[in-house]
Amino acid sequence: MTVEAGDRVISALVESGALLEGHFLLSSGRHSDRYCQCARLLARPWLAADVVAGLVAQIDVEFDLVLGPAMGGILVAYELARQAGKPNIFCERDERGQMTLRRGFAIEPGDRVLIAEDVTTTFKSCIETARLVSQWGGRVVGVAALVDRSQLDRPPYRLFAAARLNIASWEADGCPLCARGLPFEKPGSRKIFA
Ligand SMILES: [Zn+2]
Repeated sequence: MTVEAGDRVISALVESGALLEGHFLLSSGRHSDRYCQCARLLARPWLAADVVAGLVAQIDVEFDLVLGPAMGGILVAYELARQAGKPNIFCERDERGQMTLRRGFAIEPGDRVLIAEDVTTTFKSCIETARLVSQWGGRVVGVAALVDRSQLDRPPYRLFAAARLNIASWEADGCPLCARGLPFEKPGSRKIFA
């Protein structure tokens, strides 16, 4: 695994139990030796605030509104907007699975929108969220994420990330940890809080 981030970000991820070492069965069916669950960082607001402060310091684009796609983006959008002194809203999926604004949330035509995410991997939800922004007449000026796992040289949007993690994963039959006979666990099965 390669990591690019300040020591404080990594120690916050480790201290909160967000960055785990072991032998994991991922939802994709692949195996890995690391797992990052940002919800665990956000469960400790004092650590998350520190990480988000580092993220806010990187953002060099002007924005009017922070938009977090549910679920992962909601708390990141909230804390980022709180520190930046901007409003924040979230989008969520409707019955047909389409990203939508509910609860009276709106984007004004011409609004410069910063998308907030916990983890960026494939940018799938960012792309869907950006489509929603343009339907409302807004403009995406960037994506801010706690952790970037995309390993893309050219992400589809201006990307600001508190940490960049390059976590290796393998198909089960090529997994070196399985080859050593180590049992695997599903992420989420390990209790972090007493
Ligand atoms: Zn394995």
